[in-house]
This record gives sequence, structure tokens and C-alpha cells, in this order.
Amino acid sequence: MKFFENRSFDDLCSLKVEENARFYCELEDYDQLNEIDGFLREKSIKHLVLGEGTNIVPINNFEGLVIKNKLKGITEIDESFVEVSSGENWNEFVKWSLSEGKKGLENLALIPGTVGAGPVQNIGAYGSEISKFIEEISVFNFETSKVETMKKDDCEFSYRSSIFQQTNKYFILSVSFKFEQDSKLNLSYKSIQELITSKGLIEENLTSYDVFDLVSQIRKKVLPDHKLNPNVGSFFKNIRLPESEYRKLDLPTDIPIYKGDGEVKISSAYLIEKAGWKGKREGGVGISDLHSLVVVCDKGTNGSEILEFANKVIDDIYSKTGLRLEIEPTLV
Ligand SMILES: Cc1cc2nc3c(=O)[nH]c(=O)nc-3n(C[C@H](O)[C@H](O)[C@H](O)COP(=O)(O)OP(=O)(O)OC[C@H]3O[C@@H](n4cnc5c(N)ncnc54)[C@H](O)[C@@H]3O)c2cc1C
Repeated sequence: MKFFENRSFDDLCSLKVEENARFYCELEDYDQLNEIDGFLREKSIKHLVLGEGTNIVPINNFEGLVIKNKLKGITEIDESFVEVSSGENWNEFVKWSLSEGKKGLENLALIPGTVGAGPVQNIGAYGSEISKFIEEISVFNFETSKVETMKKDDCEFSYRSSIFQQTNKYFILSVSFKFEQDSKLNLSYKSIQELITSKGLIEENLTSYDVFDLVSQIRKKVLPDHKLNPNVGSFFKNIRLPESEYRKLDLPTDIPIYKGDGEVKISSAYLIEKAGWKGKREGGVGISDLHSLVVVCDKGTNGSEILEFANKVIDDIYSKTGLRLEIEPTLV
């Protein structure tokens, strides 16, 4: 296999930044893992597993090896279980599952990126999360140089988080999904409800395909297209606090909160908009005028400029509310 030197990130990530990777290779086959492992040990360098680059922010040149994931294939174990190679495109897999009569993933329509990156931040949208459907994950462990199987409980899934964010030692090779035969539609999300009402649709008549279409319509309206306007989707996580901590904060009463499971959820989009950042730009970077969680930038902007801008937003919100926003994508 080929190891390239000084590969630009500009066509490897959706922010289209110009930082470089010291080394770059493409993994197409499990057999190549040992060669990659050997290369990393010989050079004593770090590595970055790369899917479609829709959730990374290269803030400097990367002095290691970027391993682009090109593992492909979908294996139907039986009616309920499917094993998917991690380099498959997520939305294509969602469409495939619906075409095979497997219900459940429709609320996760149109999330960009690969299947293998899904568990890393436990991708979620419109009231659903990938972890609900995961049975087990096959990984290559760079510490032991072995392929291992991780059960769902080993993955420590929570809101936009998993064990794969705490350690860099795992390369997710494939993800096994379990589909329920009698899966019910999840129509609870407010914007789905509003669209159903405005279109005069009858809930009982809706299919998983219809929900896929509704979610796709909403997403196209509220999110900037990363192929035209470089972005990584939500740049900031929503805030989640234990109720006891929230009570100590004495926040302004107009900030909308959602209570559940002993937690208080605060919409970061609301805080950013209220602080006047929605649609605001500084140089080549800004907050989208469509969605206040989305940082957009011009092609060729430096990653460090993007981070500087994001930190400015974080500091401003902190000074106004005492709440500190957390960055969602991986800083490279
Ligand atoms: C317009 C837009 C909308 C979005 N909407 C949503 C949304 O609704 N919900 C949501 O949750 N996210 C959303 N995202 C974020 C993004 O789509 C997801 O995080 C997606 O899973 C990233 O996939 P990727 O292949 O591009 O990952 P990359 O950006 O390539 O990688 C992301 C991280 O995962 C790691 N990684 C990738 N593949 C593997 C692997 N095989 N093994 C181990 N680690 C790996 C990388 O090292 C990196 O740390 C959105 C992004 C954009 C641009």
C-alpha cells in the first residue's frame, strides 16, 4: 500500500481547511491493517482515522498518519441483524435499510459521514440516536494489534459521546445493527409534528419512508449544505446539567429549559441567537444565518481562525450566562 507525504486536508474535510497531514494512506482491506500498524510503530507517530471528514476541525498541520477509511460492504446476518463495514456512507445505509423493510433509522436521515464515525459521537437527530440500534462493534486495537469485538455496553454511549472519544486506540471496522420487527415510528420531535400538521398528514397512515422524507425536508431547510458552505453541522453541543447544579445557577427565566431523567437541557442554539451571534461573520468565519449552532467558513480558512472564532462565541456566552458551551467536532 502507498503512504503519501504532506497531504492537504482541503478535500478531505467538509470545512475545506488548508492544513496538511504529514502522512496519508487509504485502507481498503483488513489485510492492510498490519502494514499500517507497522508503519506507525516504525515511525513512532500518532494517527487519525478519517471517514468523510464532516466532523473534524484540523487546527494545525497534523504530524502523523491520516488513515482514510474505505472499507465497504453490508452483510445481512438474518432478518434482524446487519453487519456494515465502517467506510459505508451513513445515509446510503439508512436508505438501504428502509428498502429492505428494516425500520427504525428513518429519523437519522441525511446525517453526513460514514457508518464507522456514527458511534464515535453517538450521532443523533430528531429524537433518535445510533446507539439505540447497535448490537456490537468490531474494532482493530492499535495497542494490542488485534481485532476485538465490543458489545454495546462496552461503548459507554451517552449524548454525543462514547468511549471512542476518550481513546484513540480503536479503529472501528464494522458496526452490527439490530432491527426490531415491530418498530414504532418516532414522531415526537416538535418540527416533525409541525410539518405533519402543516401538510395535513394523518399520523396513522405514515410509513418509515414518509418519516425519512419529512426529516430530509426539515434538514434541507434548516441546515446549510456543507458542500456549498463549509461546515461540520453543529459546532456546539447542547448543555446538559444535573438539576441540582442548574438550581444553583440562577439563570434568566426567559432561557427555555427541558427537564427529564434528573437533567436539565438548555438549547445552545437559543443562547447563541440571544447573544446576537446568528448570521454574524468575522473575516472568513461566522455563525450560519440558518442555524445558530453551525459555524460556517470560506474555503481555505485556517483551522486556527475557526477555533479562535468559536472560542470568542464560547467566552461571550459564558460572560452573559455563566454557561460554557462545549465544542462538538474533533479538533485535530
Ligand atoms: C451539514 C452537517 C450536518 C450534520 N448533522 C448531524 C446530526 O444531525 N447529528 C449528528 O450527530 N452529527 C451531525 N453532523 C456531524 C457528522 O455528520 C457526524 O459526526 C458523522 O458521524 C461524521 O462522519 P465522518 O465519516 O465524516 O467522520 P469524520 O469527520 O471523518 O471523523 C469524525 C471523528 O470520528 C473518528 N472516526 C471516524 N471514523 C472512525 C472509525 N472508523 N473508527 C474510529 N474512529 C473514527 C475520527 O477520527 C474523528 O475523531 C453533521 C455534519 C454536517 C456537515
